Amino acid sequence: MSNKCVLCNSEKSILLKTGNKKINNFICKKCGLVYVWPTVNENRIFSYYKNGHYDSSHNVKIRFSKKRLEGIFLGANDKYNYIYKYIKKHIKNKTVLEIGCATGHILNIFKLKGFDVLGVEPSEKLAEFAKINYNVNVVNDMFENVKINKSYDLVLCLHTLEHVINPRRFLLKINKLMSNNSILFIEVPNIYKPQNSLKKFFDCSHFYTYSPKTLWNMLALNKFKIIYLDTKNSQIKAFCIKDKDIKPIIDPNEYKREITFLNRYKKNYIIKGYFISSFFRFLKYKSTILLPISLLKKIKRFKKYKKIKFNIVL
Ligand SMILES: [Zn+2]
Repeated sequence: MSNKCVLCNSEKSILLKTGNKKINNFICKKCGLVYVWPTVNENRIFSYYKNGHYDSSHNVKIRFSKKRLEGIFLGANDKYNYIYKYIKKHIKNKTVLEIGCATGHILNIFKLKGFDVLGVEPSEKLAEFAKINYNVNVVNDMFENVKINKSYDLVLCLHTLEHVINPRRFLLKINKLMSNNSILFIEVPNIYKPQNSLKKFFDCSHFYTYSPKTLWNMLALNKFKIIYLDTKNSQIKAFCIKDKDIKPIIDPNEYKREITFLNRYKKNYIIKGYFISSFFRFLKYKSTILLPISLLKKIKRFKKYKKIKFNIVL
């Protein structure tokens, strides 16, 4: 298999220096899409998720304290309100499909609000948690393998698309499950807002890393049009509808913009990291210097106290 961009078919790409040596991230010089190459076998990926390797390597928990569950519930409720604000005009039958629903926290809220819900989750443990604790309908499989004969008003993909090996096949399958009024809500990490060291940001399980522009183009290629894009926080949030006439608009400068940003970010992160560690080193140094002084003061005070006490006794 050749190193070819799935978005624009260009074979011109360069390897990104992310600091993560376990995985090769390339950037396409024509459209700016960042992708992993060579790709991993899909069956291996399924067993990676199914057997909980992803959960254990990414510290995904299924045991929560009551207080933590309350916090999760409130967070999921906020997410529901955020999504519902933009979709309420489009909703007719109140049906929602979540691809990669994890523990089902969000689907649970949709269910409580009267939606007919279906989740697809490859991790056996997470799917079981959702079924037992929230009584939501979850299929434990990769979305690519699931047969669904129904159309949905709303399809949710929260931090799922970046994990998908073949986003074209994945998005075309979603497209077939939607009516002309349906909404697809996507949330992915934003390459322009890493919020971490690049080594951690370019996670081994992310096969694609999007910018708002490359996400727009990936969606357009698969006949989706973004009707509302939100990049206020560290993620890209996109509400999309089906559009059979839409085509990608390749920006040849996107790749240079991304490279310039990542290089600057890496440099600043190292400088910031240096100052933070220097500060802690200073604190440690300060406490080492001050420790004998404070001990001397304590001894002095103790002696004084002893003296006073002695005087009183006499
Ligand atoms: Zn490309």
